[in-house]
Amino acid sequence: MPIKNSSVARVFFALWPEELVQRTLHSLATEYLPLCEGRIMDADTLHMTLLFLGEMERARLPLLRQTAGKVSVPPFRFVLDRLSFWSYNRIAYATPLVEVPALYQLATALQQELIAAGFLFENYEFNPHVTLLRQVGHILESQAIAPITWQVDAFVLVESVMTDQGARYQILQKWPLLPVGH
Ligand code: ATP
Ligand code: MG
Repeated sequence: MPIKNSSVARVFFALWPEELVQRTLHSLATEYLPLCEGRIMDADTLHMTLLFLGEMERARLPLLRQTAGKVSVPPFRFVLDRLSFWSYNRIAYATPLVEVPALYQLATALQQELIAAGFLFENYEFNPHVTLLRQVGHILESQAIAPITWQVDAFVLVESVMTDQGARYQILQKWPLLPVGH
């Protein structure tokens, strides 16, 4: 059982895909499983990390939420069209082939607001990817996949709770992205 009343929480900001995108990504992972082998992520855990904060005192979460609420970027969409692999941590992930400025703008806006409020992070580098398989047995060449369009209308703050079965994610709050002028 996870320890829920710990005074620290392991937290990160992420994009959480809608159900159709989750299902499409999960089907892709299922299709590749026999080829690369590994541990497949459950459909409802699939996400794109925007900013990993790591362990944070729960007492600081209200300020964290308040600060994240200052981020103001409009909704956008992008396309995941590659399946790639990292050999160093044996992960298979979906990613956009081209750089998506709106994704970087959102990640950067979030970082800037949090830095201004005095938060520190473990990792400042944003590397857009959705992990599909872990502990991959056979690292393959990066390859094209049928394009998956992801409409981004919100970002979320997530707590990662360590359990015997690995990390379990709990969405703490969701912030909608609002069109310019709102
Ligand atoms: P586990 O660590 O049990 O294998 P996990 O990696 O999914 O599971 P966390 O380590 O809590 O769970 O990570 C939550 C999210 O943050 C994941 O998307 C993970 O890739 C990302 N993440 C974790 N550590 C870092 C880091 N140092 N820098 C950037 N992103 C990270
Ligand atoms: Mg991890």
